[in-house]
Amino acid sequence: KASLVTDICFYEEAMDEAVRQRRRVTLGLREALDNDRFELHYQLQASVETGEVTGYEALLRWRQPDGSYISPMDFIPIAEETGMILPIGEWVLRRACAEAASWPEPHRIAVNLSPIQLSHVDLPRMVHQILIETGLSPHRLELEITETAMISDMERTTHILRQLKLLGVSVAMDDFGTGYSSLSTLRAFPFDKIKLDRTFMSELDGGPQSKAIIRAVLALGESLEIPILAEGVETQEQLAFLREQGCDEVQGYLLGRPARDVGLSDSRAQAA
Ligand code: C2E
Ligand code: MG
Ligand code: MG
Ligand code: MG
Repeated sequence: KASLVTDICFYEEAMDEAVRQRRRVTLGLREALDNDRFELHYQLQASVETGEVTGYEALLRWRQPDGSYISPMDFIPIAEETGMILPIGEWVLRRACAEAASWPEPHRIAVNLSPIQLSHVDLPRMVHQILIETGLSPHRLELEITETAMISDMERTTHILRQLKLLGVSVAMDDFGTGYSSLSTLRAFPFDKIKLDRTFMSELDGGPQSKAIIRAVLALGESLEIPILAEGVETQEQLAFLREQGCDEVQGYLLGRPARDVGLSDSRAQAA
């Protein structure tokens, strides 16, 4: 039978393990940054109406010595806790802009920003600097932020977002519909795009609710004059529904998986 004392011991052991794990990951992230072990994979975004590629989203991957990859979902939260997200995020921006500047087609490049990066006053200056350095035209860069970034300090965040827009870059709301304040964040800042979270796609076949919500978000986008991109499109049925409902853009495995090579993921899109 458990006693308070053994509970506390278990708790301390578990905490120790969590602390050790975090230290290991932090050292690993530092090492990865110093030794060029991060990669960006690109996933295409396409116009529903024309099927044409409109842009690519850069997705971070941590390459392991055995050639496998660690998913950003497994290390970004730790990088955010320890502050490592700042140098990593800067690396992502610089690499994404430099690679996009060398693409044969002038597609748009979308880059994810952590709320931690957004609370940093230096962000607009850093973005400006990177655009100059890489020669990427500002209108080709889109920054994706989630609504959690807006919650903590709405006024400060919108101030930074406005400065970013003054540079000529666009700002998209990512994972729309999953947070606590989706609608009020739309009121706080004029986003250039809304990315509807992929959970609505995966639940599309499950019942009438998801369909109703998707319709409502598309209507909202229309009246606010903000284009809607649906994330996580995996089936022809989902694509057909989105087309019928007037969704603007799509992204998902049906059109192309994230790939190291932009051209490669293009040919997959044509095959789909
Ligand atoms: P996100 O920004 O919402 O990115 C979309 C995620 O959905 C990606 O996962 C992508 O691989 C996945 N996905 C795309 N199409 C489909 C589909 O049809 N079905 C399913 N089931 N999934 C699909 P990934 O690459 O594992 O990234 C996860 C999250 O990690 C991203 O979500 C983003 O929040 C974060 N992330 C990725 N790269 C970065 C980065 O450079 N910086 C920051 N701060 N966060 C990043
Ligand atoms: Mg994103
Ligand atoms: Mg998303
Ligand atoms: Mg997501």
